Amino acid sequence: MSEKRVYTFGNGKAEGKADMRNLLGGKGANLAEMNLIGVPVPPGFTITTDVCNEYFEKGKETVVGLLKAEVESSVKHIEALMNSKFGDPSNPLLVSVRSGARASMPGMMDTILNLGLNDVVVEGLAKKTGNERFAYDSYRRFVQMYGDVVLGMKPVNKEDIDPFEAIIQQVKAQRGIKLDNEMTVDELKQLVTLFKNAIKEQTGQNFPDDPMEQLWGAVCAVFDSWMNERAILYRKMEGIPQEWGTAVTVMAMVFGNMGETSATGVCFSRDAATGENCFNGEYLINAQGEDVVAGIRTPQQITKEGSLRWAKQQNVDEETRRKKFPSMEEAMPELYAQLYALQDKLEKHYHDMQDMEFTVQEGKLWFLQTRNGKRTGTAMVKIAMDLLHEGEIDEKTALLRCEPNKLDELLHPVFDKEARAQAHVLTRGLPASPGAACGQVVFFADDATKWHEDGHQVIMVRIETSPEDLAGMSAAEGILTARGGMTSHAAVVARGMGKCCVSGAGAIMVDYKARTVEIDGTIIREGDYISLNGSTGEVYAGEVKTRPAEVTGDFAELMDLCKKYSKLVVRTNADTPHDAEVASNFGAVGIGLCRTEHMFFENEKIKAMREMILADSTEDREKALDKLLPYQKQDFYGILKCMDGMPVNIRLLDPPLHEFVPHDLKGQEIMAQEMGVSVQFIQSRVSSLSEHNPMLGLRGCRLGNTFPEITAMQTKAILGAAIQLKKEGFNPMPEIMVPLVGIVNELDIQEHIIRKTADKLFKKEGVEVPFKVGTMIEIPRAALTADLIAQKAEYFSFGTNDLTQMTFGYSRDDIASFLPSYLEKKILDVDPFQVLDQKGVGQLIQMAVEKGRKTRKNLKCGICGEHGGEPSSVKFCHHVGLNYVSCSPFRVPIARLAAAQAAVEEK
Ligand code: PEP
Ligand code: MG
Repeated sequence: MSEKRVYTFGNGKAEGKADMRNLLGGKGANLAEMNLIGVPVPPGFTITTDVCNEYFEKGKETVVGLLKAEVESSVKHIEALMNSKFGDPSNPLLVSVRSGARASMPGMMDTILNLGLNDVVVEGLAKKTGNERFAYDSYRRFVQMYGDVVLGMKPVNKEDIDPFEAIIQQVKAQRGIKLDNEMTVDELKQLVTLFKNAIKEQTGQNFPDDPMEQLWGAVCAVFDSWMNERAILYRKMEGIPQEWGTAVTVMAMVFGNMGETSATGVCFSRDAATGENCFNGEYLINAQGEDVVAGIRTPQQITKEGSLRWAKQQNVDEETRRKKFPSMEEAMPELYAQLYALQDKLEKHYHDMQDMEFTVQEGKLWFLQTRNGKRTGTAMVKIAMDLLHEGEIDEKTALLRCEPNKLDELLHPVFDKEARAQAHVLTRGLPASPGAACGQVVFFADDATKWHEDGHQVIMVRIETSPEDLAGMSAAEGILTARGGMTSHAAVVARGMGKCCVSGAGAIMVDYKARTVEIDGTIIREGDYISLNGSTGEVYAGEVKTRPAEVTGDFAELMDLCKKYSKLVVRTNADTPHDAEVASNFGAVGIGLCRTEHMFFENEKIKAMREMILADSTEDREKALDKLLPYQKQDFYGILKCMDGMPVNIRLLDPPLHEFVPHDLKGQEIMAQEMGVSVQFIQSRVSSLSEHNPMLGLRGCRLGNTFPEITAMQTKAILGAAIQLKKEGFNPMPEIMVPLVGIVNELDIQEHIIRKTADKLFKKEGVEVPFKVGTMIEIPRAALTADLIAQKAEYFSFGTNDLTQMTFGYSRDDIASFLPSYLEKKILDVDPFQVLDQKGVGQLIQMAVEKGRKTRKNLKCGICGEHGGEPSSVKFCHHVGLNYVSCSPFRVPIARLAAAQAAVEEK
């Protein structure tokens, strides 16, 4: 690692720049870059992410020793630029200490503000600013934050009240006041003393007076917060590796709480929820940053347009709005103009939507942070397409800007128009994160998780959320909060997760103890249903009907771009005409896997199927198969018709027969009666079908090779349906796929039966339909002998579920017993049944494609295992030259985008 551990910035100069985010974290890199492009930023320095790893390897003391000289000289650098001195009462410098990982992790790690204050310095600050209230307000906030974060006094149990908050409540209660800003200077001073006593009492330590000691404490606390529970959980959810570490940025404090000419705010260059190109955000006059996000004071809108919209949603009349909640555009027009110009400059510089934090100190505007803003899936697509139309980015960049998995949000149902018009609107809040959500009300994160695990859909209702609620928010369908604006924790996190969220619904009264929420006189209890409209902020009583999403507008345009750039095409795994239709609307160009066994489970069909399996002679089996034939033909007719003119790959029966037979006495009795045999006969057949390891038993083509009449019946059904369609003027394109082949002879025999049956049928009907016979490559031996198998197979489809199972030797059905432990111990990075193992299983795929194409030059190859809809696996399929991937209908757009990205990245 580099010897340089600290990078300074300030006054238009910086040792770092934007592309050093791996080393300096997103925040550190962008603060450096902002200096370089002339955006006003308070001076400071960033300790690298490498040091974070060093900290956990070598320990606190060693790392502080290694950093000492560089940090001390960097503090001097800030002092020189701010013309003040750290710890000097006559001219004090205060700093903030902030975390900043490579990927943004909002609210997950700790921040300490106003560092550098002690009993002497605070007096100096009061004198220097002529504002004793401000000085002591800053001091009491600092002692509280330091106690909570650095000295570990923040309660672990979220139900417990923060010890400092308890003291504040006490002081306010004694005087009968409600708001923090009603406290006198003497009361603020009293708070500092009481806070320090509490620190001594709870930790046995004195609050440190030496600013350098405070600084080291804070730096180490930020590193420590990389390993706090919520940061670990967030990393897990977002797939952020622990080794990335966090950087620590130390920056001169600027104050938004120095009176009426000071302010602080958060803003976005475009709407993070909808993607609209409109500058927006929230601010507060005479406040520090935490006040905006904490939901304690109602933040005001930055733009007038936003303010008018807010007032309408909140039922605030124009007079009150103008007097009590004016926009920054109205209250501070000149500063607003500067802010507007700078946000535009930043967006044009980064060519992406920016999420920015700023502070105005006595009329001077400072930027504290900029980053590419988190956004919903809808906003992601709209912003990419708008930036493309505006000429800011090109088509390939637009494709790469969209995260495939995030498209999932656009595929979720939306409220049915009619149902929505009739729904009873209980109240309105802010449209914090779009979407439609219905579910049962719960009030606590733990309940949300538990209810969700038990199969319930839940809406989490909170006064406000905090990072501790993360797991619950993730389990919920939607989130409703009473407090907090568009940049509150709930709003930001929900948007990041693509979860529907209505925030700041001021009319709801949450009672955690009674587990109820009162909305305009209506009491809603835990377990009652409500619905949320995250696009309008409306909250409805009960369950409101939803309808499927459609691919239109920007989304359709993005999908057209995918088509333009991809080499791989995307088919779908579908067993019913309905699924096939859904997938075709999402752009699937055929069926890559139709599992026929799912077609046998309905009433009459399952009876005939059971009869076929339980029969103990070929003659009886054929009789039962004759009953099944018309059902199968009807199913195939539906699916081939729906996918007219597109290839439909139908797989012959695959699962072990014991899955179909009745294991309960009642079912066995019914079958005995149906077949005119004894219950004992049925029971003995059932027991003879039972296997020790069914996954490796009588399944796949072993079935068709043991009972060739099954293969013949399925072939008749598939081609019979195709003939009928052809007679009706359609263009069916069936493919018949033989599963679980390991030896070419297995395929040889099956192919022979299929072709013979086809010839007979075509002759009888006087019509021929072209069709292909292919196989699945899902047994390692098939991959190893792919050159031989390709002599018989007209195409390959990689069944990576079984191929993964048999390559690793992990049972598909039993991996849950050891997977969590393997992931925790890092034996595995990911579940190989979800993300294709490129090194092992991938090698088999690559080899099989090469060998297969040596025998048959234009051998068509695809994948139909679960991996066919997982972006990194799709990209791998592109690289090894597959022709298509096939995935479940709702993953089709995700696979299409991943396929296009693979092609673009290659160039
Ligand atoms: C596979 O094994 O990958 C496959 C698609 O087949 P199934 O999941 O039905 O075994
Ligand atoms: Mg399989």
